[in-house]
Amino acid sequence: MADLASMSMPELRETLKTEGLPDYRATQIFEWLQRWGIPEWSAASNLPKALRERLQAEHPILGCKTERKQTSRDGTVKYLFQLHDGEQVESVLLKYEHGYSLCVSSQAGCARGCIFCASTIGGCRRNLSACEILGQIHAVQRDLHIRIGHTVLMGMGEPLDNLDSVLRFLALATDGNGLGLSIRNISLSTCGVVPRIHRLATHRLGLTLSVSLHAPNDELRSQLMPVNREYPLGKLIPVCRDYAIRTGRRVSFEYVMLRGVNDRPAQAKQLAALIHSFPAHVNLIPVNPASRGNFEPSTPTAAAAFRGTLEIAGITATMRRTLGQDIDAACGQLRNTVNP
Ligand code: SAH
Repeated sequence: MADLASMSMPELRETLKTEGLPDYRATQIFEWLQRWGIPEWSAASNLPKALRERLQAEHPILGCKTERKQTSRDGTVKYLFQLHDGEQVESVLLKYEHGYSLCVSSQAGCARGCIFCASTIGGCRRNLSACEILGQIHAVQRDLHIRIGHTVLMGMGEPLDNLDSVLRFLALATDGNGLGLSIRNISLSTCGVVPRIHRLATHRLGLTLSVSLHAPNDELRSQLMPVNREYPLGKLIPVCRDYAIRTGRRVSFEYVMLRGVNDRPAQAKQLAALIHSFPAHVNLIPVNPASRGNFEPSTPTAAAAFRGTLEIAGITATMRRTLGQDIDAACGQLRNTVNP
C-alpha cells in the first residue's frame, strides 16, 4: 500500500498514473493531503464519491489521532497522538510573539539513551514516516484553527537517525502547494550524530541546526549522553563548524542546566573555548526534573553566572523560558504518564 501523503508531487503523479488517474487528480490530491492535511478522504470535496471511497479503501491516510491534550496556564498545548499502529508520539505547541511554533516528534521513542531524557525509556520503537511528522502539524492546525509558522524537530526521537523521512518531511513542509513553511523557520535538534550532520550539511538547506551539547568536555558528556562515546567532541565540534561555514547559518547549542553537574563557572569557560571559533549561539535550558534521573535544575544565580561567563567570553547565550512545566511538556513525559 503506497503512502500517498509522504510522496512528492512527481512521485504522486507517477503512482496515480499507474492506477489510471490523470495528472489533474494528482494535483488535487496533493493539495488535499499537503495543504489541507485532511484526516480522511471523505473531506476531499472536489473528488467524485467513488474515487474518495476507492482511496479510503486502497490508500487510507495514516495521520495522527489526538489521544490526549493538555493546555498549560501559559498557553502551551501538549498533544499525545496515536499513530495508525497504536504507537504514541508527542507534540508541543508554543505561542511566541512572532506566532506559533510546534515541536514535533520524528520517532516513537529514541535509541540514544541520554540519561536525563524520558523519550529514551523503552528505546526506539520505530521511525515515523514523513506524513506522520507532517500529520502532527496538520492535526494541531485543524484542532485549533491556527497556522503554524515555525517548526522544531525537537520532540521525541533523534531526527538524524530517521534522516530519509526527515528530508522528505522538509521537502514537503516547504512545498508552496503544501504547508509552504519557510526552511528558515524550521530547526532540527540532534544529540550529535556526526556523519549524519555532515550529510545534512551537503544538502545546504538553510535550516537551523541545534546540537544538544549539555557538557563542555568528553568525560562528562559521555556520562550524560552515550552518543559521545561514538562521536566525541573532537569530531562533533569540527562538523558543526563546517555546517556553519557551508550553510552560512550559526549553529545553536542546547545546554540543559543540571545543578552541580554542568553549571560551574569553569565549565562555562570550557564551553566558550570549545565553540568560540565559529558563529554559534547557546540556549540554556533548565532541566525538567520530572523527566528522568535525579537531576535538579540549576539555581537562578548559578544559571545567570554561567550565562554571564559565556557572554564575557564573547558567546551569545539565551536562557530559555520554561513553558508548560505544569503539563509535563518535556520530551517523552506525557507518553510516560499515560503508559507508566
Ligand atoms: N534527539 C534530539 C532531539 C530531541 S530532544 C536531541 O537530542 O537534540 C530535544 C531536546 O530536549 C534536547 O536538547 C534534549 O537534550 C532536551 N531534553 C531531554 N530531556 C530533557 C529534560 N529532562 N529537561 C530539559 N531538556 C531535556
